[in-house]
Amino acid sequence: MHINTPSYKSFFDSMSKEQRTDFARLKRFLERWSGDPDFRRGVELAEGSEEFIRNQIGFDFDVTEIAPLIDKSAANIKVDERTWPLVHLWRRYILSARDFRNELRSNGNSAGRTPDFDKWRLRQMNRAAFELGVTSSSIVHAPITFELSDGCSVGCWFCGISAEKFKGHFDIHADGNREFWLGVLTQSKDILGAGVGAGFCYWATDPLDNPSYCELADDFASIAGSYPQVTTAIPLRDPALTRRSLESRTGAQIFPNRFSVLTTSILRRIHNTFSPEELINVELVMQNKGALRDAKAIAGKARLKTKVIPIENSNTEGGESKPRDGGTIACVSGFLVNLVSKTIKLISPTNATDVTPNGYYIFDEMSFTTVESFGECLRQLISNNMQQKVSANKIVRFGEFLNVLKGPGGIELASGTFKAKFPHSDALVEAICEGAHTPNEIVKQLARQEINPLKTIYLIDSLWKGGLIESMQAR
Ligand code: SF4
Repeated sequence: MHINTPSYKSFFDSMSKEQRTDFARLKRFLERWSGDPDFRRGVELAEGSEEFIRNQIGFDFDVTEIAPLIDKSAANIKVDERTWPLVHLWRRYILSARDFRNELRSNGNSAGRTPDFDKWRLRQMNRAAFELGVTSSSIVHAPITFELSDGCSVGCWFCGISAEKFKGHFDIHADGNREFWLGVLTQSKDILGAGVGAGFCYWATDPLDNPSYCELADDFASIAGSYPQVTTAIPLRDPALTRRSLESRTGAQIFPNRFSVLTTSILRRIHNTFSPEELINVELVMQNKGALRDAKAIAGKARLKTKVIPIENSNTEGGESKPRDGGTIACVSGFLVNLVSKTIKLISPTNATDVTPNGYYIFDEMSFTTVESFGECLRQLISNNMQQKVSANKIVRFGEFLNVLKGPGGIELASGTFKAKFPHSDALVEAICEGAHTPNEIVKQLARQEINPLKTIYLIDSLWKGGLIESMQAR
């Protein structure tokens, strides 16, 4: 049983052999176009001359067939399959990748096997949507990820999660380690069910820093039911290993893989090393100078090198604005497991700030030594951190990321990027804002103002499920 994510695979299955070649070549052209300023300039100056393009990318490509993709003035042309077949194909690909992300979001839970985890994850997704605004729609909230090394050998200056220096990898050939890895995966599957297939095998690590990555991924697939998605910044270090890591994901389920492109010269070398067909299922994420779209978030190490522009709320009338800088590359709402240090953190994405510089909350952390203690840690992290209801006897307050704005139109709840009216009860909002009362106390306090206790309980519960309020330790 594998995680149900049909959209992306359906797109690739739907193409004829000729369409696959066309698509792979189109993708390659667009990668050079978006990632290589000299290529862009050359195409523009030579007005798309056949010779220039053939010399650069190794095959003939007619740019006039994709005008709506590269020419702003043609972007709004009505596109249909008959008149613009390549543009139509590309747009279908983009939609399939978007649908795939949505499928991972919807199905990356335990499907009721561990209801406490599922409700907690949903609450984190709601909170992140309010906190991060539209950018949160691209976050898959994977339920688990495994780091196969300690630290990362690449050392990107902009690393959004501040990876530490590489200290070594998990050696699957060392005594007992294979059984250990299989046991860890089995325990994870016991708790997360098919949702574990939404997991992957890197975080502040590069998967290909582990020379046994493909064996580890095969084990993952044997238990999770699907191959983990690869994101690597070192596809050129050992092209044979990179190829194997891509080849092994051609089974029943395919996930989009990613190469991070650190410089324009690396982009060209990637293209010289791998054919368009080999990279048909690999997104090149341009992190290089001169790329059309800078994929970096102002998080982690990038925050230290970049002048942070705080996200201020435009309407601060009657409310106190809390500056937010932000951005995140974090995409897990669940467990971050390191196989070398044998630690598990419970994490979820947030804006990068001084308090959460790497763009994710760490709610709790535990260490394990054996497969059994790993399973025990997962269960304890769930029971200690995933309370299902707002406690009647613990103080509630709004999340740190929220501003409460009081204006003539009533009360609005606002994050740095999103705002919503709260038309129900000013008195309730004020009581929560004080950050000093339990739900029991608030219900009684509002009942004295003739506000129906059932309505108050319902609203507090809704704010809780939306991830907008936190429950504090009892006094
Ligand atoms: S961005 Fe990725 S490859 Fe670069 S240092 Fe961070 S974890 Fe390593």
